[in-house]
Amino acid sequence: MMSAIALLRRYRIHPDKALGQHFLVNDRIARRIVDATGVDAHTVVLEIGPGIGALTRQLVERARHVVGVEIDPALFRVLQAEFADCQNLTLLCQDICDLDITEVCRAHGVDDLIVVGNLPYNITGPVIERLLRYRSVIRLATIMVQQEVGARLTAPPGNKTYGALSVIVQYTYQPRLLFRVSPGHFIPRPAVQSVVMTLTPHPTPPVNVHDPDCLFRLVKAAFRHRRKMLHHALTGDLIPHPDAAQRAEIESCTGIDLRRRGETLSLAEFGRLADAIGQRHNRNETAKREM
Ligand code: SAM
Repeated sequence: MMSAIALLRRYRIHPDKALGQHFLVNDRIARRIVDATGVDAHTVVLEIGPGIGALTRQLVERARHVVGVEIDPALFRVLQAEFADCQNLTLLCQDICDLDITEVCRAHGVDDLIVVGNLPYNITGPVIERLLRYRSVIRLATIMVQQEVGARLTAPPGNKTYGALSVIVQYTYQPRLLFRVSPGHFIPRPAVQSVVMTLTPHPTPPVNVHDPDCLFRLVKAAFRHRRKMLHHALTGDLIPHPDAAQRAEIESCTGIDLRRRGETLSLAEFGRLADAIGQRHNRNETAKREM
């Protein structure tokens, strides 16, 4: 099999910046990433954006089956040619954001799969949303992301990078930073440092919340105006016009001072607040029905 650099020359590939194309050209790092996936002969793998196959080559040697989803038709043709003899690889030329991951599991007769990808940085957010949405069929995700994204996903409360995505991801997955990859290992060089990280789904959520949707809405509202105190940031759909007595009631049942900012709250505190707001909402709805 040709090296990544030789492949780029042979097929005269001009990386498309709009598709976040930065190809990994260091085999040792590719092997380290694949080692972190825990893929074995029983595993079905979903690879996001195989590019010219830096990770794919190692994955097909270890996995039962690999499904590679590449949006660029030119790279899709390169992959088809390079992996023509490979029996355990299915290539799909489509946008990963349109893929039903449950369907991939069903097609391969498995309950879950492992996701691997050196993510195109321009669609990191939508890809993470997919990982959240399909959490029940993902055993582990090993992804390479921009260093700042890795910091945000793992940030603790109070940290300047702690945001809605940190809380929502940490409710669903245990994120773990593994190692850094510097720009010199890609062609073309990205302007940023990258990190490889794993997301392991929690067997059960780390905090007990009645309605996770209410938690997610609360977290997004709290960080929409991250400098505002909670009772201002949440006034609207979530806590319609709370008076002093209502504020005091929420504060006493959660133990959370609503003058705090969302960025200081832990996941457990967000959980308590979500339950208190949810209960209050349900009580109001019942009262309205009985009127
Ligand atoms: N895995 C290869 C590697 O490590 O060298 C390529 C990584 S490159 C950072 C990202 C790859 O994702 C590119 O091949 C790009 O064409 C592909 N890509 C970009 N947007 C995509 C999308 N929405 N769906 C699927 N693939 C996409």
